[in-house]
Amino acid sequence: MYEIMIIGAGPAGLSAAVYAARKQLKTLLLSSDIGGQMNWTMGIENYLGYQFITASELISKFHQQISQFPIDQKTGEKVTLVSRTEDGFEATTDTGEKYQAKAVVFATGKQSRRLDVPGETTFTGKGVTYCSVCDGPLFAGMPVAIVGGGNSAVQAALDMVKIAKNVTIISLTKLTADPILANKLLQEKNLDIYIEYKVTKIEGQQLVKQVTMEDVKSKKVRILDVSGVFIEIGLIPNSDAVKELVKLNSAGEVPVNCSGETGVPGFFAAGDVTDVPEKQIVIAAGEGAKAALRAHRFLQMNT
Ligand SMILES: Cc1cc2nc3c(=O)[nH]c(=O)nc-3n(C[C@H](O)[C@H](O)[C@H](O)COP(=O)(O)OP(=O)(O)OC[C@H]3O[C@@H](n4cnc5c(N)ncnc54)[C@H](O)[C@@H]3O)c2cc1C
Repeated sequence: MYEIMIIGAGPAGLSAAVYAARKQLKTLLLSSDIGGQMNWTMGIENYLGYQFITASELISKFHQQISQFPIDQKTGEKVTLVSRTEDGFEATTDTGEKYQAKAVVFATGKQSRRLDVPGETTFTGKGVTYCSVCDGPLFAGMPVAIVGGGNSAVQAALDMVKIAKNVTIISLTKLTADPILANKLLQEKNLDIYIEYKVTKIEGQQLVKQVTMEDVKSKKVRILDVSGVFIEIGLIPNSDAVKELVKLNSAGEVPVNCSGETGVPGFFAAGDVTDVPEKQIVIAAGEGAKAALRAHRFLQMNT
């Protein structure tokens, strides 16, 4: 029985682990991977203290910091269920293991919805990206495609028309973004929009060179020369394991108050999996710290 189990080792979970360890709680860090969404990007330019740092270096710095503490780390296991027990919580993983703790910080983040087309995985981090805010400046002066037609795609296009040589939006449906955003975009000059087209392939050598798309009605195929493909078709919270434990919001996020409390005593959540607005590393790290500190207080008062 651990005092605290932290599920997820992105910035929220790693930061929670530092705070839990410094409170000398018997801590388990249980996660599919180390680093979370940071593994999906190349460089980070907005984490305080670093004007630029590669994502892999920041992950390794975070990991080194928690590794100085006596924290039990279990990586490579996906939690499939978190349930209540008489004196705390139990997490069951996809390997069939079960772990118990008196309190939980749930920090499983989000995952980008994937296109599932050939070349997407191969070129992730080599021209294929899921975050225009983060990676946009890396494509200055280059032609890019943005896949999607909702608010995030249109916002990405609005950001990228100022940075890229030209921007092509490829959307399976008519633009579903708020009209105010869409209208703003339509005034831009270095922009092409392909509506009711689906991306079928991403190709390149070391880096992305081309994206292939198909008109969903006529099946006509077009190939564009691009250096970047921004996939902006939404994010999915990794909250399946707790959907019976807490009431998720309509986006599938775990609602929390400003201390990371979920309404289930002893069960805290932090970072992108929660309904806290704005999804960024510094925010997730701060929320992880808050949740761990509140969990420590909970344990002091209840054990
Ligand atoms: C491409 C990209 C680039 C980005 N660039 C920037 C940037 O430059 N600057 C910035 O501030 N933000 C950036 N972000 C956003 C930032 O990465 C996230 O806001 C941040 O990582 C959220 O941290 P988190 O710990 O809440 O979740 P995540 O980073 O998503 O971490 C979740 C953790 O939980 C684990 N996990 C998930 N499900 C389970 C499960 N069922 N069982 C066990 N473990 C599980 C994962 O393996 C992972 O370790 C970027 C995001 C993306 C996708």
